[in-house]
Amino acid sequence: MTAGRKTVTILGATGSVGTSTLDLIERQPEAFEIIALTANSDVAGLASAARRTRARRAVIADEQHLGALRAALAGSGIEVAGGAQAVCEAAAMGADWTMAAIVGCTGLSPVMAAVEQGGTVVLANKEPLVSAGEVILAAAQRHGATLLPADSEHNAIFQCFDFDRPERVRRIILTGSGGPFRDWSRAAMQAASPEQAVAHPNWSMGAKISVDSATMMNKGLELIEAARLFPVPAERIEIVIHRQSIIHSIVDYVDGSMLAQLGISDMRVPIAHTLAWPDRQATPMPPLDLVAVGRLDFEAPDPDRFPALHLARAALSDGGARPAVLNAANEVAVAAFLARRIGFLDIAAIVADVLDRFDPPPPATLEEVFAVDSEARRWTAQAMEVLTA
Ligand code: NAD
Ligand code: MG
Repeated sequence: MTAGRKTVTILGATGSVGTSTLDLIERQPEAFEIIALTANSDVAGLASAARRTRARRAVIADEQHLGALRAALAGSGIEVAGGAQAVCEAAAMGADWTMAAIVGCTGLSPVMAAVEQGGTVVLANKEPLVSAGEVILAAAQRHGATLLPADSEHNAIFQCFDFDRPERVRRIILTGSGGPFRDWSRAAMQAASPEQAVAHPNWSMGAKISVDSATMMNKGLELIEAARLFPVPAERIEIVIHRQSIIHSIVDYVDGSMLAQLGISDMRVPIAHTLAWPDRQATPMPPLDLVAVGRLDFEAPDPDRFPALHLARAALSDGGARPAVLNAANEVAVAAFLARRIGFLDIAAIVADVLDRFDPPPPATLEEVFAVDSEARRWTAQAMEVLTA
């Protein structure tokens, strides 16, 4: 290890957040040293990133691609490994700074492995925090790990939140663009294709979170994420549609002052904040031109067209296993929608159906969270069979 360089691991290095993180890191080779990069199946993307950054190790989660990764990195001196366990081992190599950017609850074990090393763990991957928030936070405390939010809203709140006086916070206002269907009728939404659902008006993101933005389940998951990360009761976390995605969220104090973080809709802004924190670093993007933006609009979300918001809020207030059931059902339903097996509005309907039928006791350990998660997936598969029969 070169003295003075921050050591970095990126879990999910080939995805949208992963490549944004690499972009920032590759501009400062003198500041960062890559320990490990992981991906699911994109051998070419992973091998290229590992060679460019001279990573110590590259790990492919889907083991059937291990041979191809070995071939792609032959002669490079980069260690190569494959399989879900190898991803966790990479997360446990003790990097100073780890970006958790795997999609879905698959990222939970690697996040825990990173947290147990006691370094800084940056959470883009929100699903583990929804399903296992208490377990992750307790582990972070036990191991002295620092959790930083990369999700733009939570990063904004983190920057505005007075952690020394949380009782002086009156409300948190989570902003959301409303997604690609914010102005669509219900009938048009039911007929929406995966291509239409992933075409987000403001952000360029992976397929799963793009569909979540279209159903607004993303904002629901973010509500739960905010309740985990910030000491404010759930009923004081509000959601407002702000279609320009310029204000990333707001903290409202008892004296009437509202502190907001603004920026262009580019994940490199919040990621750069977490990379340099508590310092600041320059980013390559142009400054936000407020005159060009012209106006900032706000409106209330429509509960009829976006039932996922209510489902998430209810799951949060019921607590226990409910957020994990909500998340697992949603992951399965979104995958089915992307595979054209169900319609767009069926996603939230199926999640509601699974929440109605499956109500397990609160999980206390990681193993119990995984048990709830896999049982909820079975219930969801069943609910979909009934729907598509
Ligand atoms: P993505 O689909 O673009 O990338 C996902 C990454 O995870 C890829 O590197 C992929 O190889 C890896 N991966 C997928 N399945 C895996 C598996 N089974 N095992 C190991 N690795 C696996 O997703 P994304 O848009 O970058 O989002 C990643 C996470 O960050 C999500 O939880 C998302 O909600 C969150 N997030 C994303 C954005 C964004 O702008 N994209 C913003 C906020 C939060
Ligand atoms: Mg977000």
